[in-house]
Amino acid sequence: MDGTVAYIGLGSNLDDPAAQVARALDELAAIDGLEVTACSRLYHNPPMGPQDQPDYINAVARVLTRLPAEVLLDELLAIEQAHGRVRGGEHWGPRTLDLDLLVYGEAVIETGRLTVPHPGLAERAFVLYPLQEIEPGLRIPRLGALAELCRRCPRDGLRPLDPVA
Ligand code: AMP
Repeated sequence: MDGTVAYIGLGSNLDDPAAQVARALDELAAIDGLEVTACSRLYHNPPMGPQDQPDYINAVARVLTRLPAEVLLDELLAIEQAHGRVRGGEHWGPRTLDLDLLVYGEAVIETGRLTVPHPGLAERAFVLYPLQEIEPGLRIPRLGALAELCRRCPRDGLRPLDPVA
Protein backbone atom coordinates (compact mmCIF):
# COMPACT_ATOMS: atom_id res chain seq x y z
CA MET A 1 0.00 0.00 0.00
CA ASP A 2 1.21 3.53 -0.77
CA GLY A 3 0.83 5.98 2.04
CA THR A 4 2.42 7.83 4.93
CA VAL A 5 4.33 6.19 7.75
CA ALA A 6 2.94 7.34 11.08
CA TYR A 7 3.50 6.40 14.73
CA ILE A 8 0.73 6.07 17.27
CA GLY A 9 1.11 5.97 21.06
CA LEU A 10 -1.26 3.77 23.05
CA GLY A 11 -1.83 3.93 26.80
CA SER A 12 -4.28 2.70 29.40
CA ASN A 13 -4.46 2.41 33.18
CA LEU A 14 -8.00 1.16 33.79
CA ASP A 15 -10.08 -1.99 33.24
CA ASP A 16 -7.31 -4.47 32.39
CA PRO A 17 -4.93 -2.03 30.64
CA ALA A 18 -2.93 -4.67 28.74
CA ALA A 19 -6.16 -6.00 27.23
CA GLN A 20 -7.32 -2.46 26.37
CA VAL A 21 -4.08 -1.82 24.48
CA ALA A 22 -4.16 -5.20 22.72
CA ARG A 23 -7.75 -4.63 21.62
CA ALA A 24 -6.94 -1.11 20.42
CA LEU A 25 -4.15 -2.53 18.24
CA ASP A 26 -6.66 -4.88 16.60
CA GLU A 27 -9.03 -1.96 16.09
CA LEU A 28 -6.27 0.14 14.53
CA ALA A 29 -5.49 -2.71 12.14
CA ALA A 30 -9.16 -2.87 11.15
CA ILE A 31 -9.26 0.78 9.95
CA ASP A 32 -9.80 1.04 6.21
CA GLY A 33 -6.74 2.62 4.54
CA LEU A 34 -4.34 1.74 7.37
CA GLU A 35 -1.93 -1.14 8.02
CA VAL A 36 -0.14 -1.74 11.32
CA THR A 37 3.44 -2.55 10.23
CA ALA A 38 5.16 -2.83 13.64
CA CYS A 39 4.39 -2.65 17.32
CA SER A 40 6.61 -2.34 20.37
CA ARG A 41 6.31 -4.59 23.38
CA LEU A 42 3.91 -3.46 26.07
CA TYR A 43 5.59 -1.30 28.72
CA HIS A 44 4.69 -0.83 32.34
CA ASN A 45 4.90 2.77 33.48
CA PRO A 46 4.22 4.66 36.74
CA PRO A 47 1.54 7.35 36.31
CA MET A 48 2.35 10.89 35.24
CA GLY A 49 0.60 13.55 37.34
CA PRO A 50 -1.57 12.34 40.25
CA GLN A 51 0.03 9.29 41.89
CA ASP A 52 -3.16 7.85 43.42
CA GLN A 53 -4.06 5.95 40.24
CA PRO A 54 -3.00 2.60 38.76
CA ASP A 55 0.18 2.24 36.69
CA TYR A 56 -0.08 2.57 32.92
CA ILE A 57 0.52 0.12 30.13
CA ASN A 58 2.00 1.86 27.06
CA ALA A 59 3.04 0.82 23.56
CA VAL A 60 3.82 2.45 20.23
CA ALA A 61 2.66 1.22 16.81
CA ARG A 62 4.02 2.06 13.39
CA VAL A 63 1.37 2.30 10.68
CA LEU A 64 1.25 2.89 6.96
CA THR A 65 -1.82 4.89 6.02
CA ARG A 66 -3.59 6.58 3.16
CA LEU A 67 -5.69 8.65 5.57
CA PRO A 68 -4.96 12.36 5.96
CA ALA A 69 -3.74 13.21 9.48
CA GLU A 70 -7.02 14.84 10.59
CA VAL A 71 -9.03 11.83 9.43
CA LEU A 72 -6.63 9.51 11.24
CA LEU A 73 -7.13 11.61 14.41
CA ASP A 74 -10.91 11.15 14.07
CA GLU A 75 -10.43 7.39 13.82
CA LEU A 76 -8.26 7.42 16.97
CA LEU A 77 -10.83 9.46 18.89
CA ALA A 78 -13.60 7.06 17.81
CA ILE A 79 -11.61 4.08 19.11
CA GLU A 80 -10.98 5.89 22.41
CA GLN A 81 -14.69 6.57 22.76
CA ALA A 82 -15.57 2.96 22.03
CA HIS A 83 -13.35 2.04 24.99
CA GLY A 84 -15.55 4.06 27.27
CA ARG A 85 -13.18 6.90 27.89
CA VAL A 86 -14.90 9.79 29.60
CA ARG A 87 -13.53 13.19 28.61
CA GLY A 88 -13.47 16.21 30.89
CA GLY A 89 -12.14 14.30 33.86
CA GLU A 90 -9.07 15.18 35.84
CA HIS A 91 -6.08 16.26 33.74
CA TRP A 92 -3.69 13.31 33.59
CA GLY A 93 -6.26 11.29 35.54
CA PRO A 94 -6.97 7.60 34.92
CA ARG A 95 -8.17 6.57 31.45
CA THR A 96 -9.28 3.39 29.77
CA LEU A 97 -7.52 4.26 26.53
CA ASP A 98 -5.43 7.13 25.24
CA LEU A 99 -4.31 7.20 21.59
CA ASP A 100 -1.91 9.89 20.38
CA LEU A 101 -0.76 10.63 16.87
CA LEU A 102 2.95 11.02 17.58
CA VAL A 103 4.48 11.48 14.14
CA TYR A 104 2.91 11.63 10.68
CA GLY A 105 5.59 11.28 8.00
CA GLU A 106 7.57 14.48 7.69
CA ALA A 107 4.55 16.63 8.53
CA VAL A 108 4.54 19.52 10.96
CA ILE A 109 0.91 20.30 11.78
CA GLU A 110 -0.55 22.91 14.06
CA THR A 111 -4.28 23.31 13.78
CA GLY A 112 -6.80 23.96 16.54
CA ARG A 113 -7.27 20.25 17.19
CA LEU A 114 -4.08 18.60 16.03
CA THR A 115 -0.41 19.18 16.83
CA VAL A 116 2.12 16.89 15.12
CA PRO A 117 4.73 15.85 16.13
CA HIS A 118 2.87 15.34 19.41
CA PRO A 119 3.84 18.15 21.82
CA GLY A 120 4.70 15.85 24.74
CA LEU A 121 6.85 13.50 22.71
CA ALA A 122 10.32 14.74 23.66
CA GLU A 123 9.70 14.53 27.43
CA ARG A 124 7.88 11.21 27.65
CA ALA A 125 9.94 8.10 28.31
CA PHE A 126 6.87 5.90 27.75
CA VAL A 127 6.70 7.18 24.16
CA LEU A 128 10.40 7.57 23.33
CA TYR A 129 11.65 4.11 24.41
CA PRO A 130 8.89 2.03 22.75
CA LEU A 131 9.40 4.16 19.62
CA GLN A 132 13.13 3.46 19.74
CA GLU A 133 12.42 -0.26 20.00
CA ILE A 134 10.65 -0.28 16.63
CA GLU A 135 12.49 2.57 14.81
CA PRO A 136 15.90 3.22 16.39
CA GLY A 137 17.12 5.41 13.51
CA LEU A 138 14.07 7.68 13.38
CA ARG A 139 14.53 11.41 12.89
CA ILE A 140 11.54 13.41 14.05
CA PRO A 141 10.53 16.64 12.32
CA ARG A 142 11.51 19.65 14.45
CA LEU A 143 12.95 17.45 17.23
CA GLY A 144 15.81 15.61 15.50
CA ALA A 145 17.27 12.18 16.22
CA LEU A 146 15.17 9.89 18.41
CA ALA A 147 18.35 8.36 19.87
CA GLU A 148 19.40 11.78 21.14
CA LEU A 149 15.94 12.45 22.64
CA CYS A 150 16.18 9.11 24.47
CA ARG A 151 19.65 9.96 25.74
CA ARG A 152 18.25 13.11 27.34
CA CYS A 153 15.15 11.47 28.85
CA PRO A 154 15.49 9.25 31.94
CA ARG A 155 13.53 6.01 31.80
CA ASP A 156 12.12 6.62 35.28
CA GLY A 157 10.14 3.52 36.14
CA LEU A 158 9.47 2.43 32.55
CA ARG A 159 10.02 -1.29 31.93
CA PRO A 160 8.86 -3.78 29.32
CA LEU A 161 6.28 -6.32 30.51
CA ASP A 162 8.32 -9.15 28.99
CA PRO A 163 11.96 -8.03 29.37
CA VAL A 164 13.31 -11.09 27.54
CA ALA A 165 14.15 -9.66 24.11
P1 AMP B 1 -5.72 13.97 25.41
O1 AMP B 1 -6.21 12.64 24.93
O2 AMP B 1 -6.26 14.38 26.73
O3 AMP B 1 -4.23 14.02 25.32
O4 AMP B 1 -6.27 15.07 24.38
C1 AMP B 1 -6.96 14.70 23.24
C2 AMP B 1 -7.18 15.91 22.35
O5 AMP B 1 -5.94 16.45 21.96
C3 AMP B 1 -7.92 15.51 21.09
O6 AMP B 1 -9.26 15.92 21.17
C4 AMP B 1 -7.18 16.19 19.96
O7 AMP B 1 -7.98 17.13 19.29
C5 AMP B 1 -6.02 16.90 20.63
N1 AMP B 1 -4.74 16.61 19.96
C6 AMP B 1 -3.89 17.55 19.48
N2 AMP B 1 -2.82 16.97 18.91
C7 AMP B 1 -2.99 15.62 19.03
C8 AMP B 1 -2.21 14.49 18.63
N3 AMP B 1 -1.04 14.65 17.98
N4 AMP B 1 -2.69 13.26 18.91
C9 AMP B 1 -3.87 13.11 19.58
N5 AMP B 1 -4.65 14.13 19.98
C10 AMP B 1 -4.21 15.39 19.71
